[in-house]
Amino acid sequence: MTDTVAATTSAAIVPGVRGQPAKISFRGITKEFVSQAGGRPIKALDGLSLDIAEKDFVCLIGPSGCGKSTLLNLVGGFERATSGEVLLDGAGIAGPGPDRGVVFQEGALFPWLNVLNNVCYGPKRLGVPRERYLADAHAILDEVGLLSFAQHLPAELSGGMRQRVAIARALINRPPVLLMDEPFGALDPQTRVLMQEMLLRIWEHDNRTVLFITHDVEEALFLGTRVVVMSSRPGRVLKDVRADLPRPRDFSVLRNPEFVEMKAELFALVREQTIAAAADSSSRASGARAR
Ligand code: ADP
Ligand code: MG
Repeated sequence: MTDTVAATTSAAIVPGVRGQPAKISFRGITKEFVSQAGGRPIKALDGLSLDIAEKDFVCLIGPSGCGKSTLLNLVGGFERATSGEVLLDGAGIAGPGPDRGVVFQEGALFPWLNVLNNVCYGPKRLGVPRERYLADAHAILDEVGLLSFAQHLPAELSGGMRQRVAIARALINRPPVLLMDEPFGALDPQTRVLMQEMLLRIWEHDNRTVLFITHDVEEALFLGTRVVVMSSRPGRVLKDVRADLPRPRDFSVLRNPEFVEMKAELFALVREQTIAAAADSSSRASGARAR
C-alpha cells in the first residue's frame, strides 16, 4: 500500500503521479544564513529537490534545525534561496501572496481584533466586497466550529480555538496552497487529535495542496498523502513515502498494522537524524569554545 517514491528529483513531473506537473517544485535548493554574531555561514539546506503535486498533502518531518521552516518560508515567499529555484505552478516566487495560506505554531492573530475581524482582515485588504467576505467568514468559522465565538477576542480563546481562527484566516482567501508550520505543536494531545481530524475533513472536501511541517511522525502519517523525511542539517530529502492509508481517516487508523509498522520505521529514521543533529551541534559548540 505504501510505496517509496524517488528521494530527489529535479523533474517538473511529480514521481508516481503520471503526467501531472508539479504544483510546487524545489530544484537544487541551497540556503545559507549569515549569523548576526559573525562566523561561518550556516548552511540550512543543501541542494534539496522535491516536487509536490496539486492536491498532495505532504508532511515534512525531520530533526529540529534541519531546515523545515526554511523550506516552508521559501514557498511562502518570506525567504529567498541562496541558489536553486522554488517554483509555484512553474513560475518563480517573488514574495508572499494570497494564493498561499500560512499557519504558524502560534496563531499570530491581531489581539485587538475579534475573531470575525481577524478572519476578514485579508480579504478586506484585498478589496473583496463586504457581503462576500462576510459570507465566506461565516462559512469558514462554521467549518472550524467557531461561529458562536465570532465576537470574542483572541485572549478569550483557548490555544486550540486560536489555532482554528488562524486556520480560518488562512483559508478565507481560498488559497490553492496551504502552508502549515507545526500548527498543532503547542496544543495538548487531545486537542491536537481533534484539530488533525478537523483539518482532514476540510482537506478531504477541498483537496487543496498542503505542505505541513511537524516533528511528530504519527501526525505526519495520520494526515499526509506523502511523508518526506529530511536529514539533519544541512537538510536534504532522505526518504519520501506515499501514505495510502484508508480515507476518510479518523484516529482508528492509528491501530492499523500498516500504520504501526510505518510509524516505527519513520520514527527510527528521524531518531537517527536527531542524534546526528545533536552530535553536530555539540561539535559546533566545542569548536566555538576553542576559537
Ligand atoms: P527547523 O524548522 O527544521 O527546526 P529552520 O529552518 O528553522 O529549522 O532552521 C534551519 C537552520 O537554519 C538552523 O540551524 C537555524 O539556526 C538556521 N536559521 C534559520 N533561520 C535563520 C535566520 N534567519 N538567521 C540565521 N540562521 C537561521
Ligand atoms: Mg521550524
